[in-house]
Amino acid sequence: MSMLAQTEPSQRSHTQSPVLVLNQNYEPINVCTLRRALVLVFCDKAEIIEAYGSPVYSQCFSYEAPSVIRLFQLIRRPRPRVKLTRREVFIRDRYTCQYCGGANGDLTLDHVIPRSKGGAHTWENLVTACRHCNHRKGGKTVQEARMKLMVTPYEPRAGVYYSIERRLHSAAIENWMKFLPGLETASNLALSLSSD
Ligand SMILES: [Zn+2]
Repeated sequence: MSMLAQTEPSQRSHTQSPVLVLNQNYEPINVCTLRRALVLVFCDKAEIIEAYGSPVYSQCFSYEAPSVIRLFQLIRRPRPRVKLTRREVFIRDRYTCQYCGGANGDLTLDHVIPRSKGGAHTWENLVTACRHCNHRKGGKTVQEARMKLMVTPYEPRAGVYYSIERRLHSAAIENWMKFLPGLETASNLALSLSSD
């Protein structure tokens, strides 16, 4: 580990720059910091595929600052699970109230079985609801409120680019795009939604 101390880039602003990580088969799998990417390169675990224009300087050397790296070994890992957040529930429900189908901007999260009745904070018990429907349902169950869900709520599957998309709002790097076929529309969505 002494090598890490020696090769630590002195330009602090660079150490948090995002780097796209490709699997050995060029499949994009993650985004890491430049510092982490350099560790992988110096430990002979990855090669630099694309670089940022400016180099990173340390006390002794200067390096090409990687923007895209590729792992030498194919890694297999389970697809990540989508983190349960208000925003991800809205995305799953396409920003549509699951009771009336309304898509006006004033959306809330509704516990299908109310928390007061022991309902859990889970994908299967959370839906997007407009303020009107949420108010109408109140602390009642769907049956008690005589309402109907359009779709049974479920845990969404993480898309191929899930790990990458979640970081795109801070890092849409032009020279990554050729490694992310089909991402253009998805990234536009992520970018437009990143404010909420
Ligand atoms: Zn509604």
